[in-house]
Amino acid sequence: MSDVIRLLPDHVANQIAAGEVVQRPASVVKELLENAIDAGANSIKLIVKDAGRQGIEVIDNGVGMSGTDARMAFERHATSKISRTEDIFQIRTKGFRGEALASIAAVAQVDLRTRRETEELGTHIVIHGGELKSQEPVVTPVGTMISVRNLFYNVPARRNFLKSNQVELRHILDEFHRVALAHESIDFQLISNDVEVFRLTGTHTAQRILHIFGKKMQGQLVPVNEETDVVKITGFIGKPESAKKSRGEQFFFANNRFIKSGYLHKALQHAFENLISPGEHPAYFIFLEIDPEKIDINIHPTKTEIKFEDEAAIYGQLRAAVKHALGQYQVTPALDFDRPDWDIPIMKQNRDLKMPEIQVDRNYNPFQTEFNLRGMTTPGAGGTFHHYELETHAKPSPELFSKAEETPLKVMQWQQAYLITEYQDDLLLIDQHRAHQSVLYQKFIKSKNKNALSQQLLFAIEMELSHNEKEKIKNSEEFWIGYGFDFVIDEDLLMVNAIPGDMQSDMILPLFQDFLSSDEAISTTDPADELAKYMAKAASIKKGTRLGVDQMQHLVQELFALEQFIYSPFGKRIFKSINLHEISKFLD
Ligand code: ADP
Ligand code: MG
Repeated sequence: MSDVIRLLPDHVANQIAAGEVVQRPASVVKELLENAIDAGANSIKLIVKDAGRQGIEVIDNGVGMSGTDARMAFERHATSKISRTEDIFQIRTKGFRGEALASIAAVAQVDLRTRRETEELGTHIVIHGGELKSQEPVVTPVGTMISVRNLFYNVPARRNFLKSNQVELRHILDEFHRVALAHESIDFQLISNDVEVFRLTGTHTAQRILHIFGKKMQGQLVPVNEETDVVKITGFIGKPESAKKSRGEQFFFANNRFIKSGYLHKALQHAFENLISPGEHPAYFIFLEIDPEKIDINIHPTKTEIKFEDEAAIYGQLRAAVKHALGQYQVTPALDFDRPDWDIPIMKQNRDLKMPEIQVDRNYNPFQTEFNLRGMTTPGAGGTFHHYELETHAKPSPELFSKAEETPLKVMQWQQAYLITEYQDDLLLIDQHRAHQSVLYQKFIKSKNKNALSQQLLFAIEMELSHNEKEKIKNSEEFWIGYGFDFVIDEDLLMVNAIPGDMQSDMILPLFQDFLSSDEAISTTDPADELAKYMAKAASIKKGTRLGVDQMQHLVQELFALEQFIYSPFGKRIFKSINLHEISKFLD
């Protein structure tokens, strides 16, 4: 029998390699944007047609290529970025494998125009399916324009594998966001089917985040800044109250390269523990700078998975950095009982006395004290409240509060806004509005889709809607009905005929107004939960409502029977505990 092993022809090898690098239009977008960045461009334009199926074009003002280099660039393993094995450990560029252009050209029709500053004429190269069609001089600006048309035209199996335009465009947007976030000082433009989707001018990271994700991020970002021998961590995290039910904006970058890391994600989650409920996801934009020798970005062709030499240390430092950031910026509500002076109410009669302003100590780190306390106090029945604030599952058992017959729960109302009660040797200050809101929220959620009890109204409640508002209500109709609402929309008029059994008619208009004016309502993955928040807000007792002793006792018991009794559905702290020791310190 004769020998059977042969070397694959180049174009076949390239097509096979393309399978790894080019999975979908978004992969092409990523590689081309990265090449433009590696070329030193400070202005990059991306044009896509038909979610990249028909065409992807990237225009940059980088250094460009000579004629020979332009031709070479399409050879496999042709790269200007590394030449020796050692270079792999010092990578500062995005690309280095020299595979992208060869792979893309193998499965599409590519048109490249490029010129260097030192040359008068540039080069125009056309390659179809890996085959050089033409190469000639051309008049073209300094930089590179590369157009990739009819992706997978010669690999029907792959073309058929693509998802809907909507999905493919989503992937393109993701890649665009990642690159734009990691290179905030570069101008980027994105045009899709002749519509300008983004025009980003070079700026700093926080501004870039706002430009990309919109004003809704304003006031929601907390800076993270930490540097150790191993890693420098910078970036931003979303405040806990802005956490969402859906996994939204979560980004890790290592040396300005977007990376995926389930492991580091855990570190972040860990840092947010007890600050958000288990189903919620905080936003984060974390930039790690590490000595390139200490990471290996070579383990995957798309280079999004990397290995850290000292993974565990980075985990710990990331977690600490985020915790520190959360603590330093007092992400807990602005009105915090940690700071006010307790002697004020007593001296109130003195009219000349000025209320001291609440001072925020930026270096104050609530986690630190709480962690210290945690180790100190562990009495059998439960410990102090500081302890509970850290343990998600442990809590003052409702029974402790419900042995009403033996020792009635002592509760008093202060300023018609706060309830004051005690638990062991802690004094508790409870925000009555937030407490009730949380109780109702969890009740509503339990009632959703269970044919909630509904009451028919004698007179319909009417409200004029704008076009957008009408859409919003229509899109969320099923969730309203699930809670026992019944309404019709006639032209621009909303007429509510029935409302949930435990709401009152005067709550309804404010509820709809509040709901309609929120940006997020309904766009989340769990619109029913989102709606429950607004219902709870509308139906809960407000500040300024006088409560009877029974009502207060009942509310306190209900609150501490909840699974989530630390933060309100809007992420605000519900109560604060002050330990006996702290009080004696106040009075020192
Ligand atoms: P890699 O980026 O891994 O080096 P590519 O196949 O993406 O491999 O590109 C091959 C080479 O072509 C690069 O090393 C670079 O020298 C050159 N190149 C590609 N795109 C550009 C561009 N937009 N501007 C200038 N040079 C480019
Ligand atoms: Mg490249």
